[in-house]
Amino acid sequence: MESETQLLTTAEAVQKSGATILRGGAFKPRTSPYEFQGLGARGLKLLAKARRETGLSIITELLSEEHAELVAEYTDIIQIGTRNAQNFQLLIAAAKTGKPVLLKRGLSMKIEEWLLAGEYVLAHGNRNLMFCERGIRTFETYTRNTLDLSTIPIIKQESHLPIVIDPSQGAGRADLVVAMCKGAVAMGADALLIEVHPNPAEAWSDGAQQVTLEGFARLMDELKPFIAAAGRE
Ligand code: PEP
Ligand code: MN
Repeated sequence: MESETQLLTTAEAVQKSGATILRGGAFKPRTSPYEFQGLGARGLKLLAKARRETGLSIITELLSEEHAELVAEYTDIIQIGTRNAQNFQLLIAAAKTGKPVLLKRGLSMKIEEWLLAGEYVLAHGNRNLMFCERGIRTFETYTRNTLDLSTIPIIKQESHLPIVIDPSQGAGRADLVVAMCKGAVAMGADALLIEVHPNPAEAWSDGAQQVTLEGFARLMDELKPFIAAAGRE
């Protein structure tokens, strides 16, 4: 999230294309402290406005325990990002808000460690947990990360919980997002988390991996036969 106009334009467009949940980063975990850190509390208010105007549910990242109550006040789902996937006190704080939690896989996290991180949420009385594969760090640099789609059948075997695929962080390249989404849907992913921007070339964060509003509409259309083939709606 960069501004009210950028958020609302994006929210309205993705809602029209069939998205059901809006993910916007208010507190952003940036690699460099000199990069845009997000709009913070003001961003949460913008998300609430986008929900009012579009009917979309909201998901946003919780970066710090001290913000747990504030974030939970605004959001429908809490995202725990890759850098905090084993920040157990943060996981507990997220669990205790009672909001559903989307747990991203850590950059170098083994699946077993990821499942156990998820147990922190479950063990603290919150049964509404989703796993999100967003790519792991390997020797490969052609893509930003290596999107591990084997997590789809594995999470289904090892748990009863939904598995969400984030091809945007996974590939780091907008031109690969459509193919990765098709593969994920065909393999039974329960949801996709896709970064969208009205003007990716000018995005304040991760521009290379964001699809345009038109690109997102096309993608949603192209996914239809794959969704049907997977026996899903
Ligand atoms: C994001 O989804 O924008 C993000 C920061 O994700 P991750 O934690 O997977 O890097
Ligand atoms: Mn991002």
